[in-house]
Amino acid sequence: MIHLVENKTGKEDFKRYQKLTPKTYKQCVSLAKNLKNRKILHISSTPEGGGVAEILKSQVPIEKCLGLDSRWFYIKAPKKFFEITKEIHNRLQGRKGSLTEREKDFYFKQNKILAVNLRKIIKEYEPDIIVIHDPQPLPAIEALNKKILKILRIHIDLSAPDKAVLKMLRKYILKYDFVVITESKYRPEWLSKNKTIISMPAIDPFTPKNRLMPKIRSENILKEYGINTKKPVIAQVSRFDPWKDQFGTIKAYRMAKKEILDLQLILVGFIETLDDPESLRYYHKIKKYANDDPDIFLFADLKAIKEPSDDPLISAVYTCSDVIIQKSIREGFGIVVTEAMWKKKPVIGGKATGIELQIKDGVNGFLVTNSREAANLIIKLMNNSKLRKKIGKEAYKTVKEKFLMPRLTLDFLRVYKRM
Ligand code: UDP
Repeated sequence: MIHLVENKTGKEDFKRYQKLTPKTYKQCVSLAKNLKNRKILHISSTPEGGGVAEILKSQVPIEKCLGLDSRWFYIKAPKKFFEITKEIHNRLQGRKGSLTEREKDFYFKQNKILAVNLRKIIKEYEPDIIVIHDPQPLPAIEALNKKILKILRIHIDLSAPDKAVLKMLRKYILKYDFVVITESKYRPEWLSKNKTIISMPAIDPFTPKNRLMPKIRSENILKEYGINTKKPVIAQVSRFDPWKDQFGTIKAYRMAKKEILDLQLILVGFIETLDDPESLRYYHKIKKYANDDPDIFLFADLKAIKEPSDDPLISAVYTCSDVIIQKSIREGFGIVVTEAMWKKKPVIGGKATGIELQIKDGVNGFLVTNSREAANLIIKLMNNSKLRKKIGKEAYKTVKEKFLMPRLTLDFLRVYKRM
């Protein structure tokens, strides 16, 4: 039920950050000296796909590199469990829906099984600190004894949660020593400020996806799929999910295409996450809505791509696109926005809390509330390469200052130090 993520947590050379973010690098090294060999277990719901896995793939090796004994485990559970936890996730982000007593029961029963497994792992590894990520394994906290520092990292947008679902989790959340959230607005009023830590996500600039890719290589990759990089390209990279509003993005593309006749739209959202059974259903709706438009390119099936993983394709999409769209309605943070900004792209983002944390409207990107506004901006940016460049440059600067892994590492080392 709980499995070690082995192949994703190779060695990270933290020294690479010495030049890029010298101040934070030094702070991390100095703080880590007192935390050598501390045993940390991260538990998340999936080893692949989505922002949490993306962060842990780099955070765990960095912690190891700094001398901590960090490991990452993910959980395996029946599909029904993930259907329920997705519903919990949606309700916590404010969507109306239903959660029956039987479903709640199933969720807590699965967490009891998880807790039994966790106890075995604790016996084997004897961790000093456990970090549980997101609501899926949240109630498994019951398995932990007093000696272990218990941290909950909630990545989702809690700005307008369904109160009943939050209440259902309250007694478990209160058992944690610290709760890490992305933004102070996400703190439930009953959670004390002393227990709350604010830490924004970050990206690893050295991963294959985030490293700069030569333009020619990216063009060649996209050509393979019939995308003409000589013509205007806009793209959205995100799981097929109603919160990401691919419908709204297609609407904006259609409006903009009335003026930019050769505009192309790429939507990337490979369905690989074990904890997201909703995405396939949503993808089919989007595919229908795209209506075989030859200038809309949908990527959802990993088996249909020529590269060994989706990373080169995503990197090529960021590199070749003139504008990146992320029209989310709710967004805990939105690492895709950070990734695109790092690639010096102007991003048009939905006015969701997580995106507002990154984009200052008109300075390093743009914020919109509807498809019409997005379409107007697509047209404006397509007709003004200087503006695209200027905004892209500011976007890159923002990520370098605020959203690279050493800053996130430092935030966590500070929490670990409170042991
Ligand atoms: N991503 C990916 N393949 C896809 C779609 C997204 O690898 O088909 C990655 C994307 O590059 C980013 C992460 O998944 O690193 C998404 O994180 P974000 O915080 O934007 O959204 P989440 O999926 O966690 O809601």
